[in-house]
Amino acid sequence: MRVQAAVAYQGRDRFAIEQLDLSDPGPDNILVRIAGVGLCHTDVKALEGAMRVPKPSVLGHEGAGVVEWVGERVVTLKPGDHVVLTYDSCRSCHACAGGNPAYCEQTASLNFHDARENEPGFFRKGSERIHGHFFGQSSFAHHAMAREQNTIRVRKDAPLEILGTLGCGVQTGAGAIMNSLAARSGESVVIFGVGPVGLSAVMAAVVCGCAPIVAVDALESRLSIAKHLGAAHTVLVSSGFEVAEEIRKLVSGGVNLALDTTGRAENYHLALASLATKGRFGFLTLPSAAFEPHLASIFLRGLTMRGIVQGDSVPHEFIPRLIDLYMDGRFPFDKLVTKYSLDKINHAIEDQAAGRVVKPVFTFDS
Ligand SMILES: [Zn+2]
Ligand SMILES: [Zn+2]
Repeated sequence: MRVQAAVAYQGRDRFAIEQLDLSDPGPDNILVRIAGVGLCHTDVKALEGAMRVPKPSVLGHEGAGVVEWVGERVVTLKPGDHVVLTYDSCRSCHACAGGNPAYCEQTASLNFHDARENEPGFFRKGSERIHGHFFGQSSFAHHAMAREQNTIRVRKDAPLEILGTLGCGVQTGAGAIMNSLAARSGESVVIFGVGPVGLSAVMAAVVCGCAPIVAVDALESRLSIAKHLGAAHTVLVSSGFEVAEEIRKLVSGGVNLALDTTGRAENYHLALASLATKGRFGFLTLPSAAFEPHLASIFLRGLTMRGIVQGDSVPHEFIPRLIDLYMDGRFPFDKLVTKYSLDKINHAIEDQAAGRVVKPVFTFDS
C-alpha cells in the first residue's frame, strides 16, 4: 500500500514528506486509515535524536482513524470502527498483568527502539527500509498499523480527527490529575507549564472540582488559555523562587497538589516548596538538570513525590471516559487544537515552539 508519510532521517532536524510503501499487515494487526494525528513533544525529541529511536523512521503517536482491515487473530475490533491509537505495551509483564500498562517493562523497546522491526508495520522507499512501530503505530502517515493493546474503539459521534491527542499528551495531563494524584473536590492545585499537557491537567482539575487552580508558565498567551479553561490564578515565571512565595500568597498554607509538566529542575524545587502539609507532587519527565530533593522537608511535612507515565492511563477505559466528558461539555480539549495538513509539519513545529499554537493536529482528506 502506498501512503504519504512524514519521515525522520538521521542528522536532519526537519521531517521529509514522502510517498512510502507500507508492508502488508499480519494476523495481529489492525490497519487504520488515519483521520488526524496530534503532534507531541516526544515526536520532536525523537526527531532531534533523543531516546535512541532508529532512523530513518516514521514517527507520530497520537493517531485516530477508521479501521479498514483486521488480522485473523484480532477479536475486539472490526472494519468501520472509529479508533484512537495509544502507546504500545506487551500485555504479559508484571506491570501489564497488574493493570499498569503505562509502566510496561518493555515500554522503551516497543515504543522507541522498534523491537518489532521485522514484523508487519514497516515502510519502504524503493529498496530502502524505513522504521515503523513508533509507539506501536507510526501514525504520521495516511495509514498506520497497530495491535489490539494500543487500539481503542471510541464512540462514532465524537470528532474523530482530533481524538488522537487523547492517546498521549492529553491523557498524560488529565490522567496525572484524575488518576495518579487522585485529585479530590476542593483540593487546591498548581500546574507548572501549561502547554498541551498542562492545559489538559487544568481541564481535569476543573472536572475533579479542584479549587483554586493555579497555572505557572513563561508564556502569557498560554496563561490566558489556562484562565479561560478554569485556572483561578496565573503566575508568569520571571524570577526563580519568588514563584513559590507568590503561590503561597495566593493559596494560604500552600497547595494540596502540584504537577510539573516542564521537566525543569527548578520547578521541582518550586513545586515542593509550594505544597501544604501532606501535599502531593507529580512529575511527568526526568528533570533537565541534577535535582536533589530536600528529604528533611519532604519527611517533616509528610509530602509525596511520584513519577507519572501516561497519566497512569488504562487507555481502553480512560480514553472513552475523556471523550464522554468532552461530549458532555466538561472537557473542552478541542480548544487546544489547530489543524494542519501533514505537509505543513515543520511549520507546525515552529508555530508550537513559538507559542503561536498549543496542539497541532494533522488531518488527511480521506
Ligand atoms: Zn508489559
Ligand atoms: Zn506523546
